[in-house]
Amino acid sequence: MTDDAHGIGVVGGGRGSSFADGDHHPVDLQMGTLSKAIGGYGGYLAASHSVCELIRTRCRTFIYSTGLPPGAVAASIAALDLIEADPEFAARPLELARAFTRELNLPAAESPIVPVVLGDTAKTMAAAELLEAEGYLVVPIRPPTVPDGTARLRITFSAAHRREDVLGLAQVIRERVNGGGTP
Ligand SMILES: *Cc1c(COP(=O)(O)O)cnc(C)c1O
Repeated sequence: MTDDAHGIGVVGGGRGSSFADGDHHPVDLQMGTLSKAIGGYGGYLAASHSVCELIRTRCRTFIYSTGLPPGAVAASIAALDLIEADPEFAARPLELARAFTRELNLPAAESPIVPVVLGDTAKTMAAAELLEAEGYLVVPIRPPTVPDGTARLRITFSAAHRREDVLGLAQVIRERVNGGGTP
């Protein structure tokens, strides 16, 4: 089973992590969210008919919950159509993330969501404020969301970002955020 929350729509030309290296590696149960690259709401499980029937009839949190609003489903279908029609556009967030990790000598990004671990919570909050003042919206993630001592900036790249903005962000982190550039 894969939870492809960070893969669908952006990895493997948009087809998800089971296409990450170009080949297709079939996965029996593929689960993901429609709320990230798809830009909608809800989630999905792609599996055999019998597994889907089992979930539909036995998964308590699912069967006692109201179905998704049709408008939300239509928005996700429209997004999937766009991703399918333009794999280069879908690949762009990961390309920008890789340009960023190259600039900072971080391990090559595998998804468009790149953590820069600073460790100390106060330092991480201050770094996010500094970046916001410089025009970069970067979310700080701290315990208990992550283990103690691993507070981090979580940087999310999108197809709408310009390469010069990505390089500018890397430069601010390298020059003004203590601890940036070290994995
Ligand atoms: C965001 C995320 C989810 C949850 O997605 P929602 O649609 O917001 O509930 C599940 N798994 C992983 C790995 C995620 O990153």
